[in-house]
Amino acid sequence: MKLAVVGTGYVGLVTGTCFAETGNQVTCVDIDERKVEKLNNGIVPIYEPGLETLFHRNVEEGRLLFTTNLEEGIKGAEVIFLALPTPPGEDGSADLKYILKVASDLGPILKQYAVIVDKSTVPVGTAEKVHAHIADNATVDFDVVSNPEFLREGVAVEDFMKPDRVVIGTKSERAKSVMNKLYAPLVRQGNPIIFMDERSAEMTKYAANAFLATKITFMNEIANLCERAGANVDDIRRGIGTDSRIGKRFLFAGIGYGGSCFPKDVQALAKTAQDFSYDFRVLKAVMDVNDAQKTKLMPQILNHFGGDLKGKTIAVWGLAFKPYTDDIREAPALDNIRALVEAGAKVTVYDPEAMDNVRNMIGNTVTYAHTQYAALDDADALMIVTEWPLFRTPDFDKMNLLLKSKVIFDGRNVYELETMREQGYTYYSVGREAVL
Ligand code: NAD
Repeated sequence: MKLAVVGTGYVGLVTGTCFAETGNQVTCVDIDERKVEKLNNGIVPIYEPGLETLFHRNVEEGRLLFTTNLEEGIKGAEVIFLALPTPPGEDGSADLKYILKVASDLGPILKQYAVIVDKSTVPVGTAEKVHAHIADNATVDFDVVSNPEFLREGVAVEDFMKPDRVVIGTKSERAKSVMNKLYAPLVRQGNPIIFMDERSAEMTKYAANAFLATKITFMNEIANLCERAGANVDDIRRGIGTDSRIGKRFLFAGIGYGGSCFPKDVQALAKTAQDFSYDFRVLKAVMDVNDAQKTKLMPQILNHFGGDLKGKTIAVWGLAFKPYTDDIREAPALDNIRALVEAGAKVTVYDPEAMDNVRNMIGNTVTYAHTQYAALDDADALMIVTEWPLFRTPDFDKMNLLLKSKVIFDGRNVYELETMREQGYTYYSVGREAVL
């Protein structure tokens, strides 16, 4: 099939590359000239495990092309994916300006029937709006389908190639059969393609993200209570996760969720509820708790250093909002860096993938270390914000030599309490007793 993908970010580039891998002819379109130039020069602009190999293979075989020109990009395409940003607007709702602009641009340049697919996360009713914007100037038949994306950054390629399920919202039989054909190679193990109407598909994506954000947040509340009640949240996690009704995943307590999806999607769903005059109380609590959770170690840090961080250096391990990505959108690391700097501390940071993105955002507010150990040199304490695997079994002898004092504030419960006791650390984590 001939496909176009408009918007070549995390979702668009993975979508385009993976559909090229299943034998389709794909053109990716983006307005960012520098990004398209990089892609045309064989450079993948994001870090996503497994993506480079597929990218190079499909580019070399001529199945994956890049352009800034929408008309050229969609020429002859049977399916046109919209993988455009939907950032929060001022009132918290998803801002549809990117999607509706492209929809308006598409109308006059569609030359034959095409299925236009909303891959972005968009509120209920967006497919109808996209349809109306295209129809304003279109001279040919087309269908608009909602096909929300559930991939996780860090394992995006695997998620895309072997999705738990594919959700497709459309009432058009013609569009259904096109989408069925396109996705068939990805669901050969029998995972379902679930068809429904457009509005339900749009809501499914928000329900999934809001549910997961709630699960994390619930566990963070349990962790906060554990600290007061003298219980250990790791044991609670094992105790409840083995119940198949609850499940083992998304039960790890920590300093809150971040990223480009959960915060904005929870907020957008809350706004949708408000638009329909529904008081979605659980969502409001989730947002409040998560906001506070991100910097929940700060009072302990301040308390440990007698209320003042002036003259202190804090090393921060981990900047990305989660491991295996360079994405720092809404990353708790940024809130903690801000709080540490405001309290007078000097901050030295290390992350295996996200340093360039942080440098572009906050420049010389912090010092960038070349290795995780270089960050510790002369530091008064270490703070762990992202649970990259390389932080899990560090060389403690090396750490002991570099750190001025053996103090760790661990926002991701990376170490066992027993290990910290053995190593002689003062250790604060989430939902567990402090090792003093
Ligand atoms: P992104 O910001 O990484 O990429 C969006 C791309 O669209 C950018 O490259 C931008 O230059 C381009 N763009 C903007 N306007 C354009 C235009 N007029 N024409 C062509 N290109 C244009 O965003 P993303 O993370 O890929 O997310 C895209 C959508 O997918 C969002 O709605 C997001 O909520 C949703 N989503 C994201 C993820 C994720 O993990 N990142 C997962 C599932 C769903």
